[in-house]
Amino acid sequence: MTAPLDLLDLNPSLTDEERQIRDVVRQLVDDRVRPHVADWYEQGQVPARELAREFGKLGLLGMHLTGYGCAGASAVAYGLACQELEAGDSGLRSLVSVQGSLAMYAIWRYGSEEQKQRWLPSMATGEAIGCFGLTEPDHGSDPASMTTRARRDGDDWVLTGAKMWITNAPIADVAVIWARTDEGVRGFAVPMDTPGVTAREIRRKMSLRASVTGEIALDDVRLPADARLPEASGLKAPLSCLTEARYGIVWGAVGAARDCLETTLAYAGTRTQFGRPLAGFQLTQAKLADMAVELVKGQLLALHLGRLADAHRLRPDQVSVGKLNNVREALAIARQCRTVLGANGVSGEYPIMRHANNLESVLTYEGTSEIHQLVVGQRLTGLSAFA
Ligand SMILES: Cc1cc2nc3c(=O)[nH]c(=O)nc-3n(C[C@H](O)[C@H](O)[C@H](O)COP(=O)(O)OP(=O)(O)OC[C@H]3O[C@@H](n4cnc5c(N)ncnc54)[C@H](O)[C@@H]3O)c2cc1C
Repeated sequence: MTAPLDLLDLNPSLTDEERQIRDVVRQLVDDRVRPHVADWYEQGQVPARELAREFGKLGLLGMHLTGYGCAGASAVAYGLACQELEAGDSGLRSLVSVQGSLAMYAIWRYGSEEQKQRWLPSMATGEAIGCFGLTEPDHGSDPASMTTRARRDGDDWVLTGAKMWITNAPIADVAVIWARTDEGVRGFAVPMDTPGVTAREIRRKMSLRASVTGEIALDDVRLPADARLPEASGLKAPLSCLTEARYGIVWGAVGAARDCLETTLAYAGTRTQFGRPLAGFQLTQAKLADMAVELVKGQLLALHLGRLADAHRLRPDQVSVGKLNNVREALAIARQCRTVLGANGVSGEYPIMRHANNLESVLTYEGTSEIHQLVVGQRLTGLSAFA
């Protein structure tokens, strides 16, 4: 958070190393993302591979993992990086989240030593891109009903099915695919050049346009026995990966909201109507104050969850509290900021509408806000209301 938005003086509660990582990522976003992101967004095309290599050079890919070329940073440092990336664009934070927290984490946590050696070092540098296939055309919030099948054929596995809305799929080298077997849900590291695997880009997204999203078809894909992630057993394995990625979103959403509010503060200070700057109207100040209060609350929540994660005490339902609140409030801030900019609020010359549109996806992916309400509801009542 930068002054004057750091109303609660959170900056000094970060360590020097955390501040340094935050500032390096902020600089990267300023130099490499901000000058181009409006065009990438408008064209629906982003140089994701090139950016991945640049992110890899800075150690941002799988940065909270240890070994295999990963940086071994703290959860708070990883969160701060997500915050800065998403202040640039949610699509770029998605690239880093999916690579590090979903695809790399799945292999790091559940893979064999051979799978880790094969994939993680090149994924950490951004040479290899990963994706994570859980959602299907007919099964989103309820992955337990997935119909993608993996059946044994001798020593091999044969995968059949489809995965939908998969970030990075069209550019990926490896997909972590979750499939139903006779023993329950299992995970597979699937090289994207395996015969029978096709990835088609999903076009006409009105949100996350600076992120590549695709559909994966698996048509009798034959894999050797060692493609299965040996330590992953049941749905709790992919859900644990989602907890990792949701944690990054808790921070990232604050970044998008901060960028909106910084833009709005600057705009309101210089735009004059009725002979005075917009910032001088009480109604505008009420909006600015309410948004700044929500922003700093979101920041405080992210930092608290980060400290819990670094103490190995963070529970999935606490991550749900963070994702539910911070994405919902970030979206509310983006919408409110848009009103302060009037017509300019809908222009791509300013980042606000882009952030607002992006946050609609962030509200839905990695568990919709309703699903996180149900997680928190279950924690409160002891009753599952999912079905
Ligand atoms: C840009 C983008 C990128 C994505 N990237 C990935 C990815 O990389 N990998 C991946 O696996 N998936 C990815 N997803 C998919 C995302 O995780 C799903 O869209 C999400 O889980 C919701 O599933 P759904 O869209 O099928 O909605 P549905 O599950 O059909 O839900 C529709 C609505 O019904 C509500 N609902 C569902 N069940 C209940 C219930 N029990 N009680 C109350 N309300 C309920 C939901 O909250 C939602 O509002 C991505 C999605 C987007 C938009």
